[in-house]
Amino acid sequence: MTEDYLHFAWKNRLYENKVMIADSGERIEIIHPGYYNRDAGPDFSQGRVRIDGQLWVGNIEIHVRQSDWNVHNHGTDPAYDSIILHVVYEIDTDQLHRKNPFPTIELKAILDETRFSWYQQMINSGLNFPCQNIVGGIRHETIETWLERMLIERIERKTEELTLSQQPDDWEEIMYQQIARSLGLSVNGDPMKWLALSVPFRLATRYRDSQNQLEALLLGASGILLKEDIFEDQQWMDFRNEYQHLQRKHQIKALPYSVWKFFRLRPASFPTLRISQLAAIIAKHPLMFDQLKEANTPKAYFDFFKVEASEYWQTHYSPGKYSANVKYKLGKNMIHRILINGVFPVLFAYARWNNDEGLQSRILNDLHQLESEKNRITEHYKFAGFPMKTAGHSQGVLHLHHNYCRSKKCLNCAIGNTIISGYPAPTTDS
Ligand code: SF4
Repeated sequence: MTEDYLHFAWKNRLYENKVMIADSGERIEIIHPGYYNRDAGPDFSQGRVRIDGQLWVGNIEIHVRQSDWNVHNHGTDPAYDSIILHVVYEIDTDQLHRKNPFPTIELKAILDETRFSWYQQMINSGLNFPCQNIVGGIRHETIETWLERMLIERIERKTEELTLSQQPDDWEEIMYQQIARSLGLSVNGDPMKWLALSVPFRLATRYRDSQNQLEALLLGASGILLKEDIFEDQQWMDFRNEYQHLQRKHQIKALPYSVWKFFRLRPASFPTLRISQLAAIIAKHPLMFDQLKEANTPKAYFDFFKVEASEYWQTHYSPGKYSANVKYKLGKNMIHRILINGVFPVLFAYARWNNDEGLQSRILNDLHQLESEKNRITEHYKFAGFPMKTAGHSQGVLHLHHNYCRSKKCLNCAIGNTIISGYPAPTTDS
């Protein structure tokens, strides 16, 4: 038996008797199990029980064994002074260290053990995720509702990662930093954000009329431009000369070259090309945040990011090295990632700070206007019966997988609750 399963069974009243006899001989009638507390302190608050006919309202503590009370030192913790009932799987001692007396009831004889064994089998099944072979029998609405909750949790978490301890006074800068970071993907995301901090949006937009100057400014501040002289490459040397002038003028401190990763990347993902694409986005949009706040159709979002790296990179993927003529545009998948990881979290944070519920629901809706991502994880869930039509679905599934399924938190999941409470298990053709 496990304590988290006991919490689940208590919360969902998965025991046979409503009236039980405590270790003290008192008659215990459960009126309400109380409200589950995931933080420190007793497991359930505001439980309501009748003890020998007298109604009590208060905290309830749950353990596998009665002696766990002593093991956890609850007797010396004032948070546990007001326990009205102790619920255990098994009574194994009559020596409790406590300030005030309370009755203890034992669930062992009245719990359905086969349900617990079946739950154990499910989480230890070794499948891609524990309910993979069962979820197809669960009502579609239950899954959709839970996925929407997962989607909100995911976007809230991304919003928290922005670490905005106070309402920012410049949402344009934040949007610019997050777009830069998303362009770098996980490999060069942090250096791209550092670059955006070292060349703020307000400074970069001063050079938006000259892509050459803008690109020289960003490439120079990245530390890549100064890495080496390439005298035979006129454009590269022009970038360097331009940057040296701008560096003196704005006192820019370049990043060390070592922060950038090129290894194992396709040329299209090289930071040099991403920096050029960032320059193109800045050149195209004098205001990023404002425009993206107004863009609420997939087409408007995609048009916003319809840019390509500058002419120099059409014939080079590395400084000084000629390559086949390729236009490095931002592709659909890349724009998708920027929207999901950069744009929507910033807009959501803005909506939260300003209590703009309309904008919050619009962003969730916008996620359902984009196509779902396709990868190994989303394919497993789709095959098992999860809806996978929109990016809202795939984002919800990714959050569910990484935060619940992978760590087998089925007892904390609405789908898991339905499956385990509804034991025997539903079948996929019911
Ligand atoms: S956490 Fe939920 S969705 Fe994931 S395996 Fe468990 S029951 Fe299924």
